[in-house]
Amino acid sequence: MHIDILTLFPEMFEGVLNSSIMKRAQDMNAFSYNTVNFRDYTESKHNKVDDTPYGGGAGMVLSPQPIFDAVDAVKEKSSQTKPPRVILLCPQGEPHSQQKAEELAQEEHLIFLCGHYEGYDERIRTHLVTDEISIGDYVLTGGELGAMVVMDSVVRLLPSVLGNESSAPEDSFSNGLLEHPHYTRPRDFRGMHVPEVLFSGNHAKIDEWRHQQSLKRTYERRKDLLQDYSLSKKEKEWIESWKNE
Ligand code: SAM
Repeated sequence: MHIDILTLFPEMFEGVLNSSIMKRAQDMNAFSYNTVNFRDYTESKHNKVDDTPYGGGAGMVLSPQPIFDAVDAVKEKSSQTKPPRVILLCPQGEPHSQQKAEELAQEEHLIFLCGHYEGYDERIRTHLVTDEISIGDYVLTGGELGAMVVMDSVVRLLPSVLGNESSAPEDSFSNGLLEHPHYTRPRDFRGMHVPEVLFSGNHAKIDEWRHQQSLKRTYERRKDLLQDYSLSKKEKEWIESWKNE
C-alpha cells in the first residue's frame, strides 16, 4: 500500500509514522508514505492556499486550486492501476470504524486530505474525494491527527504487520463485540486474583469464558453494538442472567 498525505504541516507525521509498528510496517515494505505540502501547488502570488468565504462570515476557506492540482500530481506519479481512494478528514464525514479500516486495508493507494481553518471549498467534497471520514463528534484544529488515526487503524491490518504481538481478528469490534479482559503474571497481585478458569488448561472452557466476558463487556458498556450482532440461544440466556445482577 502507498499513502499520500496532503497537508500544510508535514512535520506532524514524522514522530507517529516513524515509530513503533508504523515504522516496522515500512521497514518490511507493507506500506510507504509521502507527505505533500499542497502550498507548493498554489498559483497564488502570495503563496496563499485559503481565501475569505463568499457570502461573508468568519474564518478562511481552503481554495480548490492547490488541492485539486496536488491530487492530480500525486495521481499522475502513481504506478498503481486501481484508482486511489481520496479521503477527506472532516467532522461531517462518516464516523470512522473497524469496518471502514478493514475496507481501506484492501486498497493499494490512499490519499488523505488534511484540512485547516474554517473548512474546504465545497467543490473539493463534491468533485475530488471518494470518502469523508470523521474520527469523532468533536472539532479539531486540523485533519492531521485524524489522518494519523485512520492510517494507524488501516496499516496494522496489512498482512504480517502485527506479527505475534497481537491478533487483529480477536480485537474489539472485529467480531462485533468488545474484547475479553486479559491477565498476566503474577497470579495474585496485592490480593487481586486472576480468574481460576484461566489455569484450568481446558481450552474449550477458557474460550467459552472469554467469549462470555466479551459479550458481558459489550452488554455493559456498548449495548448499541449488540443491535447488529446476532445472539445465539445461549448468549441470550447469559444476558438474561446479567439483567438480575
Ligand atoms: N468548520 C468545520 C465544521 O464545522 O465542520 C470544521 C473545520 S475544523 C476547525 C478544520 C479541519 O480539521 C477540518 O477541515 C478537518 O480536516 C479537521 N477536523 C476537525 N475535526 C475533525 C474530526 N472530528 N474528524 C476528522 N477531521 C477533523
